[in-house]
Amino acid sequence: MMKIGCHLSSSGGYLAMGQTARSIGANVFQFFTRNPRGGAAKALDKADVAAFAAFAAENGIGPILAHAPYTLNAAGSEARVLDFARSVMTDDLKRLEATPGALYNFHPGSHVGQGVETGIGLISDMLNRIVSSFGGDVSTTILLETMAGKGSEVGGRFEELREIIDRVDHPLGVCLDTCHVWDGGYDIAGDLDGVLGEFDRIIGIDRLKAVHINDSLNGRGARKDRHAKIGKGKIGIGAFRAIVNHPKLRDLPFYLETPCDLQGYKEEIALLKGLRR
Ligand code: FE
Ligand code: FE
Ligand code: ZN
Repeated sequence: MMKIGCHLSSSGGYLAMGQTARSIGANVFQFFTRNPRGGAAKALDKADVAAFAAFAAENGIGPILAHAPYTLNAAGSEARVLDFARSVMTDDLKRLEATPGALYNFHPGSHVGQGVETGIGLISDMLNRIVSSFGGDVSTTILLETMAGKGSEVGGRFEELREIIDRVDHPLGVCLDTCHVWDGGYDIAGDLDGVLGEFDRIIGIDRLKAVHINDSLNGRGARKDRHAKIGKGKIGIGAFRAIVNHPKLRDLPFYLETPCDLQGYKEEIALLKGLRR
């Protein structure tokens, strides 16, 4: 069965997200661990977590994907920025121990003029430090997101993600964002097989654990990172038909991050299910 869902507001807690997901035909969902601009997370409600676990088991929901705040920059140049990134990521991973089997996705970071190599070094050092603070015992799967390469973003090339993976003493996965890789120059519309082959050669396809399924407002290589509704952007519906059916992708969970309200997401989920063969 296809694993498909979308980004949901976490303001009502886990059970509410599970119920909302079911009501729109979703069996997976993504949420921000806290305000996407940063700040403190709400205290974890153990009763809500337990109620969600029962609901998810009953309804076949999961894996859930927690997304770190956008303001988290593990490649920053200031101590304040790096401290914030480390404390937020550590706290997020601690909280996620309460929901076993979850995925945790983050934007590797922006090197803010320090250069890609320095950025990769900072990101890798931070991950090593965080993982060792858990005694190496992090049960949540940590995912690096493929980025559009906007500004000084690290992770716009598969090689950059590979380098981080190689430098971290803990198994990392990857979340492939269709809008981002397209904006980064990878031709997923014209040569999906070629792009996935390159992913496999450079990163290893077994590292791929999730797909952010978004169309793009801009042409390939634009590096703008503006998401569009499925079939309403430059990637196009034909590409999404190929994406949801590709043997290397079809069993992965797909998470929509398109500019939709809940009704819009419900329609996009139905649309994507309808493209399955
Ligand atoms: Fe993201
Ligand atoms: Fe994304
Ligand atoms: Zn994006």
